Amino acid sequence: MASELQPARGTHDLIGEDQRRYQHVVDTARRIAASYGFDEWATPIFEDTRVFARTLGETSDVVMKEMYSFEDRGGDSITLRPEFTAGVCRALVSNGLTQSLPQKVFLSGPVFRYDRPQKGRYRQFHQLDLEVLGSAEPLADAEVIACGWEIIKALGLADYVVLELNTLGDQESRQDYRGALVAYFSKHRDQLSADSQTRLERNPMRILDSKDERDRAIVANAPTINGFLTEPAAKFYARLQTHLDQFGVPFRENPRIVRGLDYYGHTAFEYITNKLGAQDAVGGGGRYDGLVEEMGGPSVPCVGWAMGIDRLALLLGDPPAVPASIAVIPIGDAAEPVALRLLQELRTLGIRAEMAYRGNLRRRMERANRIGARSAVIIGDDDIARGVAQVKDLQTGQQEAVALAEIAPKLR
Ligand code: AMP
Repeated sequence: MASELQPARGTHDLIGEDQRRYQHVVDTARRIAASYGFDEWATPIFEDTRVFARTLGETSDVVMKEMYSFEDRGGDSITLRPEFTAGVCRALVSNGLTQSLPQKVFLSGPVFRYDRPQKGRYRQFHQLDLEVLGSAEPLADAEVIACGWEIIKALGLADYVVLELNTLGDQESRQDYRGALVAYFSKHRDQLSADSQTRLERNPMRILDSKDERDRAIVANAPTINGFLTEPAAKFYARLQTHLDQFGVPFRENPRIVRGLDYYGHTAFEYITNKLGAQDAVGGGGRYDGLVEEMGGPSVPCVGWAMGIDRLALLLGDPPAVPASIAVIPIGDAAEPVALRLLQELRTLGIRAEMAYRGNLRRRMERANRIGARSAVIIGDDDIARGVAQVKDLQTGQQEAVALAEIAPKLR
C-alpha cells in the first residue's frame, strides 16, 4: 500500500532541510519586500476560470495547455492559479481598492501548471510575487526590479544570477514591430518549428523566446524592437535604466525577452541563472497596463514580477541551521511535573526545549544526542528534594547542579 502511494507527478514534499530552504527564501523575501514598503496579501489558490482565461490571453501557453481547470460540485468552472497576477488584479477590483492607488503588494504560495516535469520544473511549484498596482512611472518599474535584485542578493545568489532587461514599447511601437517580424519570419516560415509557425499567425513576438534550436538560429538575425520604439516608449526605457543605475542594480540588455503573456508592455525582464541547466529563469516580470481593465475595472497601470521559490531554494547553499534544543529529562514519576513546568518556562523565553514522551535515562540521553541538543537538564528525586537539577553541557560533557529557578535564565 505505502509503496503505491507516491506524490502526484510533478509535486514534491518539503521536509526537513528542503522546507527550511523554502522558508528561508520566503522569510528573506518578506523582510525585504516590507523594507521597500510592500504589504502582504493572500489571494485564493483557486479562482473562477474566467479570471485567468480572460486575461492570460488566448495565445499564451499557460492558458492553452497548462491550466488545472475542473468543474466543481456546483457546476462552476474553477482553476488552480497558474500565476498570481490575474488573481491580484481581480482582488484589487473586487475589494474596491482601485480608488486607493498605488497598492504595493507581496505574496507567496503554491502555483499549478500542467507541464512536463523535470529538474526545476514542477506541476505544483511555489512563487514569490511582487506588484505595484496603479503607477505608470518608470520609477515603479525600477523599484520592483531593485527589490527583486535585493532579495537575490540577500539569498547570497548575486554571483549566479543576472538581470536581463528589455522593452516591449507601447502599443504603437509593438504594432510596427510586429509587422516587421511577420515580414521577416514569413521569409523563413518553412524552417520554423511547428509551434512557431502557429505563433507566426497568432503572436509573432513569442517566436523570439522560442527554445527550439532551429527557431533560435532564425531569431538571431530577426529585427529588434529598438528601431521601432516611439519617442515616449524610448524615453520610458531610458528613464528606467537611469533609475536602475541610481538604485545600484546591475543589468544586461537582452532584446529577445518578450514574456509569455499577452498583457505586457514597456518593461520586460528576467533574472537568469547559469546553474540550473535548461530551467534558467529564477524570476521574471514586466509592466501590464491593460490587465485590470480586462478584469472589468478602470485602467490601472501595473508592474510586477514572480520568482520561483523552488528554483531559488535549489540554488541556496546550506539552509539556515535549526537552533539546538534543550532536552529535559525527568527520572521517575515525581520529576515529571517539575520537568513539564521547566519546559514551559524555557519555551516562554523562546528557547527550543523538548522532552521525550517516554523512556528511561539511557534512552532519553540517546535521543538528546540524536536531535543535537546543546544541553540536557536531568531531574531526579534527590534533586527535587534539594530544589535543583543537573545541567549537562552536551558539547563539553560538563555537568553541574543548578537551582531550578536559575536554569531557564542560565540557558537563555
Ligand atoms: P512565470 O510566471 O512563467 O514568469 O514564472 C516565474 C518564475 O516561476 C520562473 O522564473 C521560474 O523561476 C518559476 N517557474 C515557472 N514555472 C515553473 C515550474 N513549472 N516549476 C518550477 N518553477 C517554475
